[in-house]
Amino acid sequence: MRFAVLGSGSRGNATLVASNDTYVLVDCGFSLRETERRLDRLGVSGKQLSAILVTHEHADHVHGVGLLSRRYDVPVYLSDGTLRGMRKPVEAGFRLVGGQGLRIGGLGIDVVSVAHDALEPTQFVFNDGRRRFGLLTDLGSYCPMVLDSYRGLDALMVESNHCRDLLARGQYPYFLKQRVGGDHGHLNNHQAASLVNELGWQDLQHLVLAHLSSKNNLPHLARQCFVDTLGCDEDWLQLADQDSGLDWREIA
Ligand SMILES: [Zn+2]
Ligand SMILES: [Zn+2]
Repeated sequence: MRFAVLGSGSRGNATLVASNDTYVLVDCGFSLRETERRLDRLGVSGKQLSAILVTHEHADHVHGVGLLSRRYDVPVYLSDGTLRGMRKPVEAGFRLVGGQGLRIGGLGIDVVSVAHDALEPTQFVFNDGRRRFGLLTDLGSYCPMVLDSYRGLDALMVESNHCRDLLARGQYPYFLKQRVGGDHGHLNNHQAASLVNELGWQDLQHLVLAHLSSKNNLPHLARQCFVDTLGCDEDWLQLADQDSGLDWREIA
């Protein structure tokens, strides 16, 4: 199994997960043209996609979903709530439900419900029968059920959205600070590092920090928080960037 990131952050998210010739795209927050450009950078064509999985209806995750799915005739998997929340039309190929397990080609997928200010947000844990890769962004808090779903992974990409202090001191209006920092907002650096610490990280081949806010976070602050909390080597941590994403990572 392997994964790559087209881009991550409030200006667009999309992640590729692949096993042999099965390619699944999680979210598509970029225009069709930009998505094609970024797929091309990773050596993938839209024609190779088996499915587009949608985590929730926020624009940074769905902007290009409808166009991409129609252009390449790729089925869209999403929850009923996410479908209801979509502002642009999309044809639902498969309805996701939290707690469900499904299979797309060579990939098994566990659907996990999370706390976020969307109608029915989900996140995913992938497996190829041998290794497990967890994708966990856009959540303001986590319960034991989420922890259980993400234990024993071989690779994890986790949101480290904001620095608590930068958010508090920053330009956002009060209501937005409350929203971002609230239980249904986004994980801050400390929450994300504590989550990974609780899950255990020693067996992870890859730990990728994602969905960093460009206004309320800085890569070195996020990294330092993980180094302080986990005691890991700073160079071992990886970061999915808004513009350059992250090149293919193999989970051996
Ligand atoms: Zn988002
Ligand atoms: Zn969101």
